[in-house]
Amino acid sequence: MHKHPPNLFVPDGCLLGCKRDLHERTMTRRRWIADQWDETSATLTGAQAEHLARVLRARVGQEFDIVAGGVVRRGTVEAIHPNTVLFQLWEAIESAASLPLTCALSIFKFDRYEWAIEKLTELGIATIVPVIARRTEKHLAQAAEARVERWRRIAREAAQQSRRTDVPAIADPVALEKMNLPTQGAWNLLLSEVEEETTLWAALTNNMETRAALSAVHMAIGPVGGWTEPEMQWFARQQWRPVSLGPRILRAETAAIATASILAAWLEEAHLQL
Ligand code: SAH
Repeated sequence: MHKHPPNLFVPDGCLLGCKRDLHERTMTRRRWIADQWDETSATLTGAQAEHLARVLRARVGQEFDIVAGGVVRRGTVEAIHPNTVLFQLWEAIESAASLPLTCALSIFKFDRYEWAIEKLTELGIATIVPVIARRTEKHLAQAAEARVERWRRIAREAAQQSRRTDVPAIADPVALEKMNLPTQGAWNLLLSEVEEETTLWAALTNNMETRAALSAVHMAIGPVGGWTEPEMQWFARQQWRPVSLGPRILRAETAAIATASILAAWLEEAHLQL
């Protein structure tokens, strides 16, 4: 680990290549999502605390942004122990909440899947449901359960990095037919590579008036092999609307990120943020 010059603002992190930003930022403060908090104080525990105390060498009095109960507040370090860092909390700071957007994301190769979780988090997704689809590879389906904690960590880090006030929920992996999303006020969009009539864009622009009444949008992305016919029928019975991103076949992670970006623009415009 190398030393960094103090008070140097580097927007994209360390130029020398270390992943963690050790620079003392003058324009933005590093953000932490508290493990415990009350009105006046907050605590980081476990791996987060250890990282801040040992790797980032926090000092008493140092300032950070602390997310406590969905609100970002200015915090100063009050005490540092190997497994706990205690902050005093000060005024609230304005920041961005998540979008009312859930992605049912079929499980695919884990390196790409992790990348998709990170990017969907940056784009403001509220919930990701890892879906075991018929064409999800067997060994991935079996290994998924043991991966969830890692996925949650990735979402948490990406949420902090993109300065969100909340961490997206990553559900336990579920077989498609067992997926049970709250349907009230929700709009369900099935991303389908075989849909030839309705594009995502057409579905959105034809629903400009109804969007203010929506409380949530759900999007479903198929596995590398695509959806099977019985799955398409299941979606139809559950009122999911098939939409296309165009005649090109995208990789699942590209389809997920493209869809989330388009929906984010649409939802932001409608001031539909939670
Ligand atoms: N194996 C299929 C492609 C599956 S792509 C084939 O080669 O035909 C994986 C998932 O990404 C799809 O199930 C769908 O949800 C999404 N996707 C990819 N391209 C898409 C497109 N042009 N329109 C809508 N969804 C798409």
